[in-house]
Amino acid sequence: METEYYVCTGCGLLCDDIEIELENGKVSKVNNACLKGVARLKKCDRPAECRINNEPATLEAAIIEAARILKEAKSPVIFGMGNSTSQAQKNAIEVAKKTDAYFDDTSSFCQGPIVEAILESRIRTCTLDEVKDKADVIVYWGADPSNSHPRHLSKYTYFPRGKERQRGWEEDRTAICIDVRKSDTATICGDKFYQIPPQADEELLNALTNGLSGKVPKVSFGMSPKKILELANMLKKAEFGVICVGLGLVYSLEEIEPLVRLMDKLNEVSNFHLIPMVGQYNMRGSNHNLHGETGYINRVKFTGDDVEHGPHCSVVELLRKRTVDAALIIGSDPMSSLPGSIAKELLDIPVITIDPCNTLTSRKAKVSIPAATAGSECGGTAVRMDGVEVEFKAMIETDRMCDAEILERIMGEL
Ligand code: SF4
Repeated sequence: METEYYVCTGCGLLCDDIEIELENGKVSKVNNACLKGVARLKKCDRPAECRINNEPATLEAAIIEAARILKEAKSPVIFGMGNSTSQAQKNAIEVAKKTDAYFDDTSSFCQGPIVEAILESRIRTCTLDEVKDKADVIVYWGADPSNSHPRHLSKYTYFPRGKERQRGWEEDRTAICIDVRKSDTATICGDKFYQIPPQADEELLNALTNGLSGKVPKVSFGMSPKKILELANMLKKAEFGVICVGLGLVYSLEEIEPLVRLMDKLNEVSNFHLIPMVGQYNMRGSNHNLHGETGYINRVKFTGDDVEHGPHCSVVELLRKRTVDAALIIGSDPMSSLPGSIAKELLDIPVITIDPCNTLTSRKAKVSIPAATAGSECGGTAVRMDGVEVEFKAMIETDRMCDAEILERIMGEL
């Protein structure tokens, strides 16, 4: 019998070689996935319940109440989306257009600027399959995939044999880690680990650009010009190089221009690509879908046929300035992830959640709508961290609706 493979939606790597075993209609065993993936695919510890004002409600009533809140709000925000299928994201954009809502996603405070630069062709990128087949120099900058995306090194970037890298990682690939601490990934990189102080990334980016331009590269911390040139030369000699950009690098940069300049320089003297280490399984899909509709990747406001964009449309600014009077949160838990001083503003407005799990946000919500878990209970498509669209199917049957269908039903009530 032919083995059936499934896709794991545990992170932006969307591993497509997952095997499962079922018992009484439930996933009892998951093969090939990492622990993080197994946890995601075996369902939430505490599934969300259908509730209105913290009282049990029917799905029908919850959908009608959610639509009423959005219709009556003067300035609603729709937020989340990184853990939603692409169809759900498209439906959420339709709901935002219909209700003149703000629309923002989690990339707004993580990999957004990098994905934006890639979509605008300001940074050269490649696919993970190309990395597997061709890459000889891999840089993990401000990233620790050994923990954040546990199969990143083994499935695509460092350990696997590829078409042009047949001799495996020890002979055919050089892995470099640049980080503020010795992470598990840094340990794998051995003497190619370059430890830098917090907030020193921009200085090192500029120093490497200078080194590659024939200037003496200097930094204010304890890294000698010789050591920087040694690193610059390793990058320069790459036949196919890739920088895997983690949040450590993104958070330390006020703007990404120093990174863009280094990538430009690297591509004058070498052959380099960049892949953002996207965390949530379809955050990149949200960026692509909104970009296709509006030309922006996040932080927009729909008003009739007009689209406004800017930092003032970010969920953080909207809550901080109390601009919004209702929130639809999809597959996200801002009460846990946003700073407390910002998240507490959600307590003062009606919140609707659509989520498979019982989260702090869903517990505080006026309307909590349970959704099927994408990947295990419902299928769809998503965009992998490298921009490749991946289709996935459900592993088990459920009576819970997918987020895409819930949003379609809300749209029908508007
Ligand atoms: Fe799932 Fe990510 Fe682990 Fe792959 S690396 S199995 S996508 S959690």
